[in-house]
Amino acid sequence: MSPRDVPLGGPRAMTVRRTLPQRSRTLIGAWCFVDHYGPDDVADTGGMDVAPHPHTGLQTVSWLFTGEIEHRDSLGIHAYVRPGEVNLMTSGHGIAHSEVSTPATTTLHGVQLWVVLPEEHRHTGRDFHHHAPAPVALDGGGEARVFLGSLAGDTSPVPTFTPLLGAELTLRPHAAVTLAVDPAFEHGLLVDRGEVRFAGTPLHPADLGYLAPGTTTVTLSNTGDTDARAVLLGGTPFEEEIVMWWNFIGRSNDDITRAREEWMSSENSDRFGAVEGYPGARLPAPELPGIPLKPRGRTR
Ligand code: MN
Repeated sequence: MSPRDVPLGGPRAMTVRRTLPQRSRTLIGAWCFVDHYGPDDVADTGGMDVAPHPHTGLQTVSWLFTGEIEHRDSLGIHAYVRPGEVNLMTSGHGIAHSEVSTPATTTLHGVQLWVVLPEEHRHTGRDFHHHAPAPVALDGGGEARVFLGSLAGDTSPVPTFTPLLGAELTLRPHAAVTLAVDPAFEHGLLVDRGEVRFAGTPLHPADLGYLAPGTTTVTLSNTGDTDARAVLLGGTPFEEEIVMWWNFIGRSNDDITRAREEWMSSENSDRFGAVEGYPGARLPAPELPGIPLKPRGRTR
């Protein structure tokens, strides 16, 4: 699957490459949103400056290759996203946060991922986890940094609400690496740089490859002369139908309408709270489309 370019919020609207959701696929496991950006020269793009905005029904997973992002949220967390360190924020019923690349950042390069929360946990409380995984050497030439779930003998301590995998993989030139994977999982591979063959499919930078459940191993080959880097995502197929609109995930048009109203009606609602320390106004929600939002399943 190839990306489409999407302008992100902010004064100069930095552009991201979005590979999930797509017309043909809504989810890979509970992963429901894959944005890939950079390497961007911050002097040209203005960097990242996303004013306080709400989320509901999801977790955000931030992973950087280069740069630094300052995070503030209505749980009261003030944290930094740095290369090789995962920040996972659980919105549960509602949270608000801001994300701003720091003045020290000259190049910004990373991914922003979302995980949908299952029905029984989608109204859970706000939460936040940080983890800096140690690199694990891969037989065949490379290394993995496992930020969610288990791979290559390493397990992330960050809890999830559905079975999930998230790992950065680096592959040496012409390396071929075979990884044991959970056969109940479906997988996606987002290539950041280099040319990678994933389960037989050649992928270019910014492509997202897909592997269906039912296999106990997956082989990745770097077919190029330089290091390749990719992010491997996985999870058990998420069978609920969801409605994704703006920064909200629900199950119905009413869920989304209610979340939008609660965000727009108060600067400090019980549902979303307030973000302290962001120098500027929060983001207003866009207008809803004139027709009801329809739930979508895994593949359409
Ligand atoms: Mn956000």
